[in-house]
Amino acid sequence: MIIIAQTVKKQTLPPAEALATTCYTVPMAKLVFGTAGIPVSTRPQTTIDGIRRVAELGLGVMEVEFVQGVYLNEEQARQVAGVARSLKIELSVHAPYFINLNAREDKKIRMGQSILRRTAHIANALDARSIVFHAGFYMGDAAEETYQAIKRHLSEVLARLKAEGINNITLRPEVSGRLSQFGSLEEILRLCKELPELKPAIDFAHWHARSGGFNSYAEFMAVLEQMRRELGDNALTDAHFHIAGIAYGHRGEKKHLNLTESDFKYGELLKALADSRASGLAICESPNREDDALLLKAGYLGLTAGADPG
Ligand SMILES: [Zn+2]
Repeated sequence: MIIIAQTVKKQTLPPAEALATTCYTVPMAKLVFGTAGIPVSTRPQTTIDGIRRVAELGLGVMEVEFVQGVYLNEEQARQVAGVARSLKIELSVHAPYFINLNAREDKKIRMGQSILRRTAHIANALDARSIVFHAGFYMGDAAEETYQAIKRHLSEVLARLKAEGINNITLRPEVSGRLSQFGSLEEILRLCKELPELKPAIDFAHWHARSGGFNSYAEFMAVLEQMRRELGDNALTDAHFHIAGIAYGHRGEKKHLNLTESDFKYGELLKALADSRASGLAICESPNREDDALLLKAGYLGLTAGADPG
């Protein structure tokens, strides 16, 4: 948060008081760490208890997983939002997996669009900042053809949401882990550039699995620089990252792993995130989500503690 207090007009106050009322907080790079879904150690496994557990653990955000379906109604979402607000926990949302904006049947495309809109309405009631979603599959189409279909169907969703007054939620297409799934880094950045209402969800594990590379400080820095170059500074000051260990083969992602049981060089990623002063949300999708989120947070704080905030 950036707080710039009013400058004291007359310099007649004693120095200490003057100092207290002219407090300038320099914008500081800050990542908020949290879990993809309710922490494993939460009892009982409810959304509200999950948020309490996230707060108890000292994490700052929970991504509400609607991956199997939007399981909250607006009333429940408002209750959840109240708890999150009181505990100062941020919320984001992951939309259902079964959205495919490049489906063969028109009916399935309409269904995907309406699920995305439903997710946006509930995310709005949750007071969430962003919705992460998987846009679709190539289904054997050429990449460009897929891109154009997804772009067209997404712009229809954006227009409807605008008409419905849902303006505070950012839809974030996610970099995907499988070669069959739309969402290379280039495709996601291009989509966000051409539809400026969108912002990217950069999943470093997915990109590593999909590309077979992107697992070093220099490569992570290149991704962050590419985000800045394509979308401007805002891409890094309001970013959304997914981080996890990952198992992969020649077709990309197989499954998520705990960081220390994977080949993912998360220490180098944290250094790149700190050096590039990225701000926003960093969501951990490892199976042991809260343990790895805490591991990432500790590593990040170790790199940024005492750093020049300017
Ligand atoms: Zn995802």
